[in-house]
Amino acid sequence: MTVVPDLARPLVDGFGRQHRDLRISVTDRCNFRCTYCMPAEGMVWHPRDHLLTFEEIERVARLAVERFGFDSIRLTGGEPTVRSRLPVLVAKLSALGVDLALTTNGSTLESMAYDLHQAGLDRINISLDSLRADRFAELTRRHELPKVLGGIRAAVAAGFDPVKVNVVVVRGVNDDEIVDFARFGRNEGVTVRFIEFMPLDADHRWSQASVVPSAAIVAAIGAVFPLERLTRGSDPAERHRYLDGHGEIGVIGTVSEPFCSSCDRVRLTADGQLRACLFATDETDLRALLRAGATDDALADALAATVAGKWAGHGITQVGFTRPARSMSEIGG
Ligand code: SAM
Ligand code: SF4
Repeated sequence: MTVVPDLARPLVDGFGRQHRDLRISVTDRCNFRCTYCMPAEGMVWHPRDHLLTFEEIERVARLAVERFGFDSIRLTGGEPTVRSRLPVLVAKLSALGVDLALTTNGSTLESMAYDLHQAGLDRINISLDSLRADRFAELTRRHELPKVLGGIRAAVAAGFDPVKVNVVVVRGVNDDEIVDFARFGRNEGVTVRFIEFMPLDADHRWSQASVVPSAAIVAAIGAVFPLERLTRGSDPAERHRYLDGHGEIGVIGTVSEPFCSSCDRVRLTADGQLRACLFATDETDLRALLRAGATDDALADALAATVAGKWAGHGITQVGFTRPARSMSEIGG
C-alpha cells in the first residue's frame, strides 16, 4: 500500500469541488459496436503510438495520487480488456493503493476475470443492455450474449463483490426490460445500475425524448419489488435497496438529475488528453507534455490548471448545449 506523502494537496476547482477520482481510457478500440455509443462502420482508430504506454499512464496516475490525494481510479475505454496485457497495468496501478475499478462489456471475462482479480483489481462494472439474445445482437451488433452472461458469472466466481451490471436505458429500445433486469440482479446476486442515455452516441440519434428518467425507472421497479432510497455520497448513482433484503439497484440520472455539483472526476483519454468533464469541449494534451520530457511539476501544473478551469456543469438540457466532438468510446465512459 502506497503511503500518500505529505505534499498531497486537494485539487479543488473554482466551484469548491475536490477531485479524487481519475478515469483512464486505455484504448479507443472495441469488439462491440453498441448503437448508443459507436457507429456500425467507419471508426478511425488512433495509431498505436498515440496511445499512452502503461508507463505513461502509471506516471500520470501516480502524480494524481501522490500530489493531489486521488484515491480512486477506474479503467475504461473503448473496451479496456482488448488492450493486451491489461492485468500488468492493473498490477501497476493497484500498487498505488487506490480503489481500482474497471468498466467492461464483459465479453472476455470468462478467461480474464480471475487474472484481473489476482492482479489487484478491486471492483468491476459490466455493461449489458438486454437479456434477450436477438435484441442484444441488435444493440451491440454482435451475437455475444452468452459470453457476457458467462463473464458476469466468472466475475462473481473470481471474487468481485459486488459485481455491478450497467444498463443504458433507451426509450422504445429496452425500457420494457427494466423489471426483468431488476429480477436478474436479484437472482444473480449482482447490483444493477440503470444509466440514462446521454448525448454521446456516434450516430447522433440521442434526443431528450429517448431518455427514460431515473425516477420512472425506480417507480417501475418499486411497484414490483418495493424499494427504499439510501443516502447518497459522491457516487453518481442514486442507490435504492430492496425492502426484502435482496440487494440494491442504482440509477444514474445524468440528464434528468445532474450530479455536477458533487463531481469529483477527471478523465484521461487513451491518446493522453486530459478532460475535466465527460462533456468537455476542450482537452489538455498530456501526451505532448509527457513525450516532450515534462517534469513532474509541469505535469502536476497541467492537471491543476485543467481542474481549475472546470465548468459548473454540462447543461445537457439547456439551450445552447454543445456536444463534445468525440463520442463515448473515444472519451472513455
Ligand atoms: N466498453 C466498456 C463497456 O461497455 O462497459 C467500457 C467503455 S463504455 C464507453 C463505458 C460505459 O458507457 C458503459 O457502461 C456504456 O454502456 C456507457 N455508455 C456508452 N455510450 C453511452 C451513452 N450514449 N449514454 C449513456 N451511457 C453510455
Ligand atoms: Fe464498446 Fe462499451 Fe461502446 Fe459498447 S459501450 S461500443 S462495448 S465501448
